[in-house]
Amino acid sequence: MAEASQKTVLVIGAGIVGVSTAYRLQKAGYQVSLVDRIGPCAGTSYGNAGGIVDSCVPNALPGLIKNVPKMLLDPTGPLTVRWSYLRQITPWLVKFIDEARPEKVKHNSKALHQLTSRAVGAWNSLLDETKLRHLMVDKGWLKVYDSEDEFNATHNMREILLKNGAEFDVLGIGDIRDLEPNLSHIFKHGIYHKNSRFLLNPEKTVHGIADAFKQAGGQIVISDIHTIKEEQGVVSAIGSVGTLKADKLILSAGAWSRHLAAQMGADLPLDTERGYHLMMPVIEEKGIDRPVVYGEKSFVLSPMERGIRMTSQVEFAGLDRGPDFRRVRKLLPYAQKMLPSLKAEEQDVWLGYRPSMPDSLPVIGTSPKSENVVFAFGHQHLGMTLGPITAQVIEEILAGNKTSFPIWPYRANRF
Ligand SMILES: Cc1cc2nc3c(=O)[nH]c(=O)nc-3n(C[C@H](O)[C@H](O)[C@H](O)COP(=O)(O)OP(=O)(O)OC[C@H]3O[C@@H](n4cnc5c(N)ncnc54)[C@H](O)[C@@H]3O)c2cc1C
Repeated sequence: MAEASQKTVLVIGAGIVGVSTAYRLQKAGYQVSLVDRIGPCAGTSYGNAGGIVDSCVPNALPGLIKNVPKMLLDPTGPLTVRWSYLRQITPWLVKFIDEARPEKVKHNSKALHQLTSRAVGAWNSLLDETKLRHLMVDKGWLKVYDSEDEFNATHNMREILLKNGAEFDVLGIGDIRDLEPNLSHIFKHGIYHKNSRFLLNPEKTVHGIADAFKQAGGQIVISDIHTIKEEQGVVSAIGSVGTLKADKLILSAGAWSRHLAAQMGADLPLDTERGYHLMMPVIEEKGIDRPVVYGEKSFVLSPMERGIRMTSQVEFAGLDRGPDFRRVRKLLPYAQKMLPSLKAEEQDVWLGYRPSMPDSLPVIGTSPKSENVVFAFGHQHLGMTLGPITAQVIEEILAGNKTSFPIWPYRANRF
């Protein structure tokens, strides 16, 4: 602790990963500056489905290629590619398809399980310490299927969960009704991740952790960082408010981390799987008690403090192209079909940028150029789940301790 207290740290990016990390390091005795170009929770951590999901299933799975044409042709299907982005995303997609090989799926799911199985524990400690426990609900995460074929297609996924020891229940029509009586009765099958949790308000949660960080003596700096470097043991982050210097730098800028990581010697296939949300009014009665995924359409309805949030599937269109909210609006009839009591009125819409590597694993560990710069990004569909456990690992790395589990699967030079 004495050693930590002499050290200064810059954390770049104040989403769930950066905020959790900044809080932990500040409490461990470091003098931390949390740097964001806009402020806490301005990125993807703002509008997600809020799930702390106990699932280690990677996104690339065997049989993927044969389903892609069907997915792309369906205007309400789970996948879109903006044609103007096809050339840029192709190398990423080639790597992604390669990750669907059985031996890679085995490796990736095991590496994910190391993190997801510890995620709820890390959230519990963080929320207890920051007095935000009331924002997390312990009612699991439910996926429902109306067609036999769609449910049968989850066989692979269930096998992966079983092999890794991730608990889930397979539900029949009666079990689904017991759990969520207001869902439409069209759903014949369900998969219930009972150890999952969800956040009633992801934005409030991230802001709450950022406030606790400030109360612990941490500093928030607004600066758009364009350059990071290390010279003679001193790290610098250069941006819109000039140069910030420290002993250590944590790069946690989510989907925007790639060019900064490249400056530290890592040429990474980090891209973004964009996703939308559409908020609808709160349902006072006859709503749902937990996030429910419509399996066939891959969208989620989450009961949140501000209303029912529908989050959509994946769009490949990079970081710079504008939103196409038609994608999420087209799902409204399906949401209504799923939950008849839903008031399918749009309150607001939002676009977020999942930071994704082709193997579905985050990048956690020291940079190739300097041990003083540590990477913490690329948490894809599970960044909300994995923010606090990533923060624990970063603290162990900075302390120079052996990490509590092997972190080589997340190393930057794995591609
Ligand atoms: C529709 C949707 C639903 C989702 N649902 C879930 C879910 O249910 N459960 C789950 O676990 N995950 C979910 N996710 C994924 C999750 O939201 C992300 O993985 C997570 O928010 C990423 O967190 P982060 O801290 O890495 O990045 P972000 O939250 O994006 O934060 C990055 C921060 O870096 C800042 N930044 C960027 N560049 C710079 C720069 N150059 N200088 C300074 N600051 C910079 C940004 O302003 C931003 O604040 C979902 C995502 C989407 C899009």
